Amino acid sequence: MKKIVSILVAVLVVFSMFAITASAAGAPTISAVSNVSTAKKDDIVKVTVSTSANSKLCSFGAELIYDATEFEVVTGTTFNAFPGAEYLNTATAGKVKYTGASATNINDATTTLFTVEFKVLKAGGTIKFAVEEAYVTDGTNDIDVTAQIAGKNITIGCAHANKEDKVTTAPTCTAAGVKTTSCKDCGAALGTSAVPAAGHKFADAVVTKAPTCTEAGEKTGTCTVCGEKTTSAVPATGHKFADAVVTKEPTCTEKGEKTGKCTACGTEAKEEIPMAGHKYGDWKVVTPATETKDGVKERTCEVCKKVDTGVISKKPATNKPSGDDNRVEADLGNNTSASMTFAFAAAGLALVTGTVVRRKRK
Ligand SMILES: [Zn+2]
Ligand SMILES: [Zn+2]
Ligand SMILES: [Zn+2]
Ligand SMILES: [Zn+2]
Repeated sequence: MKKIVSILVAVLVVFSMFAITASAAGAPTISAVSNVSTAKKDDIVKVTVSTSANSKLCSFGAELIYDATEFEVVTGTTFNAFPGAEYLNTATAGKVKYTGASATNINDATTTLFTVEFKVLKAGGTIKFAVEEAYVTDGTNDIDVTAQIAGKNITIGCAHANKEDKVTTAPTCTAAGVKTTSCKDCGAALGTSAVPAAGHKFADAVVTKAPTCTEAGEKTGTCTVCGEKTTSAVPATGHKFADAVVTKEPTCTEKGEKTGKCTACGTEAKEEIPMAGHKYGDWKVVTPATETKDGVKERTCEVCKKVDTGVISKKPATNKPSGDDNRVEADLGNNTSASMTFAFAAAGLALVTGTVVRRKRK
């Protein structure tokens, strides 16, 4: 067995003497790799340290240096690469130390020296692989190749498992803001996204211009956040006419008039009252009809006393089926209903066109 410490002086001498040979022998490739490139809290990360094939490595010492707040060793394993002289110390927080030395150099295929499983306490940490000493043998002499084997950092990236959004630029009423997503575990910024504009918050609109009977007014709302004002129309109220008063009574033959006044603005509006039409009493026979001559009948308006004269048709010569009375009634009926219909139509027209005759008082 070649213990490094015991032959240190000899090695130094040999190294200086066989510097060229050592160079020619070359240093083996020592790799330290993790099984994952990213991890989150509580994940297990396995770091494997191995040599290249036929490394001629005869002694080797290295450390895995880590931050004890980021990682915790779960287990460390050796693989008898240096039979009977392998040591793996995992008891010191922050440092795993491996040493191994062998009487025979390693000529095997790729050989695993040791593995360490770490539990992730805080994501985003780095484990430093530091080579302390490495010797290869040419069969007679041990050659120090430590300087030729670079240590390296094994960075276990954060899996960014816990993200959080923070508004980094607040939106205004009209402009979008910015939300930044970052990793809660490592603080890495993971991108931004827009926060929609908040929109104005208009308080209850206040009437800033009162509407009149005929003109629209205005309502103004003010944003409680930025003071932006918005206006909208308040519809005209329309006239409020009080009960119309009959200012001219209709007569049998002349229209009357009703006058209403708006209680708000005093505008006057007139409305026609249809003429009443005569109110005739019953027909009275003045001259009875005979079989050869028409008779005369008469009726008088109860209101204006106008006398209306009508004809009573000649009596039929003999045995006519329908009665005279019926015929007279029918004639009368026709006259009366025609004039009544006209009166109603006139009244209706007056109502429909009521606005036409309204006029605004100047
Ligand atoms: Zn992260
Ligand atoms: Zn606003
Ligand atoms: Zn009015
Ligand atoms: Zn009359």
